[in-house]
Amino acid sequence: MRNPFTQLGFITIALILLLGCSSTGGKYENSDNTAYLDGEGKRRGLFGGRKKKKSAALQNPNINIRVDPSLARSLTYSRVRTDGPFIAMTFDDGPHPVHTPRLLDILKRRNIRATFFVVGTNARRYPQLIRRIIAEGHEIGNHTVNHKYLNRISVEQARAEVLGCEKAIVAACGVKPRILRPPGGHINDRIKVWLKKEFGYSTIMWAVDPEDWKRPGSDVVARRIISETDPGEIVLAHDIHGPTIAAMPRALDGLLANGYRFVTVSQLIAIERRSIATRSGYDDNLLSSSIHFTGQKQVR
Ligand SMILES: [Zn+2]
Repeated sequence: MRNPFTQLGFITIALILLLGCSSTGGKYENSDNTAYLDGEGKRRGLFGGRKKKKSAALQNPNINIRVDPSLARSLTYSRVRTDGPFIAMTFDDGPHPVHTPRLLDILKRRNIRATFFVVGTNARRYPQLIRRIIAEGHEIGNHTVNHKYLNRISVEQARAEVLGCEKAIVAACGVKPRILRPPGGHINDRIKVWLKKEFGYSTIMWAVDPEDWKRPGSDVVARRIISETDPGEIVLAHDIHGPTIAAMPRALDGLLANGYRFVTVSQLIAIERRSIATRSGYDDNLLSSSIHFTGQKQVR
């Protein structure tokens, strides 16, 4: 490392990597002025993202987990059993033309992949955001066309809600969703079986609910997410509320600092399967002993 030529080599490689990252998704950033605003509301310059030492210190590692939807054995998930520090952030009810791009910027700076349960009407209205979500490595799930409570409508209506949202997602990005979150969490076992049998959907609930939709304030949302999340859990939030987006930098950095690692819902499901199959965890060093948990679940 003391050799100046070796050092120069490292610097060159680092610069190439940084330039490569910053060019990803650039076309989307240029297409919408709001996308230039990062999560903290500061305007980024051409190379602004690289000047922020704070975000560089808290980065989710690259986590390559092969997703095979056919191996999602359970009808429903709110958490998985895992030996690792893996969690899944989920965002419902978008995409939103202002808040979702801000959130995507926040996630990108931290190398975090999340899961978006989109409403069909919004997917139709903002297909470019659906494409951006997929292009940046996130997962998209079905949240019905009109945010209808599935246990309060007929089977025919429920079918139209599920298929309508699926069609809107596929039309926008060409990727068929494999997971569904019932609007309002309203569902029963009979509908879960029906969703699995007829459409192949796993029903995704949540283990952590900061109740951000009640707008308790960004501080409260961030604190609840950090203090209530345990390994293997699915966290609920909504990317249609400004204060929720404002809470995310602190919430995500807090979880990263506590040793948590972010994956998509389908990756989390794949992790559970592997964990049970091998019982020894992973070979990708993510279970290093340096990872520790300080987050304690609060009883509210
Ligand atoms: Zn919803």
